[in-house]
Amino acid sequence: MHLSQRITELTGGGSDGWDLFLKARRMIAEGTPVTELTIGEHDIRTAAPILQEMHDTALAGHTGYAAVPGTQDLRDTVARRIAARTGVPTTAENVLITPGGQAALFAAHVAACDPGDTALYIDPYYATYPGTLRGAGTVPQVIQARAEDAFQPRAAEIAAHAPGAASLLINTPNNPTGVVYSDATLRGIAEVCLTHDLWLISDEVYDTQVWEGTHLSPRALPGMAARTLVVGSMSKSHAMTGSRCGWIIGPEEAISHLITLATHTTYGVPGFIQDASRFALTQGEAFEAEIAAPFLRRRALAQRMLSQQNTVGLVPAQGAMYLMLDIRATGMSGEAFANGLLDSHHIAVMPGESFGQAAAGHVRVAMTVADDVFAAALQTLMTYAAERAQHNGVVRDIQT
Ligand code: PMP
Repeated sequence: MHLSQRITELTGGGSDGWDLFLKARRMIAEGTPVTELTIGEHDIRTAAPILQEMHDTALAGHTGYAAVPGTQDLRDTVARRIAARTGVPTTAENVLITPGGQAALFAAHVAACDPGDTALYIDPYYATYPGTLRGAGTVPQVIQARAEDAFQPRAAEIAAHAPGAASLLINTPNNPTGVVYSDATLRGIAEVCLTHDLWLISDEVYDTQVWEGTHLSPRALPGMAARTLVVGSMSKSHAMTGSRCGWIIGPEEAISHLITLATHTTYGVPGFIQDASRFALTQGEAFEAEIAAPFLRRRALAQRMLSQQNTVGLVPAQGAMYLMLDIRATGMSGEAFANGLLDSHHIAVMPGESFGQAAAGHVRVAMTVADDVFAAALQTLMTYAAERAQHNGVVRDIQT
């Protein structure tokens, strides 16, 4: 039977970027222990009191269809949180609860773009982005940020692609680079959106993981609340990746249409998950800081270790649970380096190329294993890089 191009060509015909991760999982299934520094998943599980709340509310009967836009309690809680964090007046009418940030990304593009519209996004990007944009019926157009700019995108380059486009997707704090977009970057982006009448889809799922500088939600910039759809999630801030609870914040009119879309697609999020999410969001900032603490600690550990050598470079690690390492001094692609490290040392890191061409010659390291395991893996990675640099340097000398 014929299958639609929309799904058969979702990944653009090539890899969807998860090859190395799947290879590591195959090795593990076949009995080889692998240190996995691949996906963005905490090494702690959802806290017991959150699970207790989930259990209690489910036992109390919140297991039927929940309100499609989200429960009033959770929408109110998210609205208050966003208003407090950003200063932008926000009510429940600006909030749609979604099954995770991923579903929010998809729905936001359906809301912002007609089929065939150009949807802009920035490279390096979270690996699902191009497929999400294609799935939503748009034509994705990538704009490269550059390693020499510490992966802050240039507004002028976005502007060059903006005429005729419908939306721009950004992500700060950024996966995969760990960079937090500066105020200047975000003001430049806002200017482009206003000038070219673009929707801004702002993926802020790492907004509680900021190690340097401050997170500015571009929805708070002048004129932007009317054209910004913010994607948020419980996954990273509260270690609730498996609960699949996120949201879109946007203008009331957009949210009302997105509720209709939810009625015809997801039909909402389980009530007991929403109750547990509301409970989690009221645990306060100290709780969120506790969830983020292991990444902050491992980042400091990595900064100390990496400062002892000069083969592997570190992209400014300002936020999120990842380090982006520059391994270009080895003469290898990120893909060759990651495959070599996995084959010879059973350590899995993600090739930069999984996240677009701008991160070629880099690897992304998720700081998602215990400190001692993390430090040992990083040490092995640095030693491997030094060996490869020396080896490839020798080869270059012989050739020239
Ligand atoms: N955006 C970014 C940048 C991510 O890294 C992720 C998950 N890794 C998501 C969105 C989706 O997260 P979730 O669906 O779990 O909320």
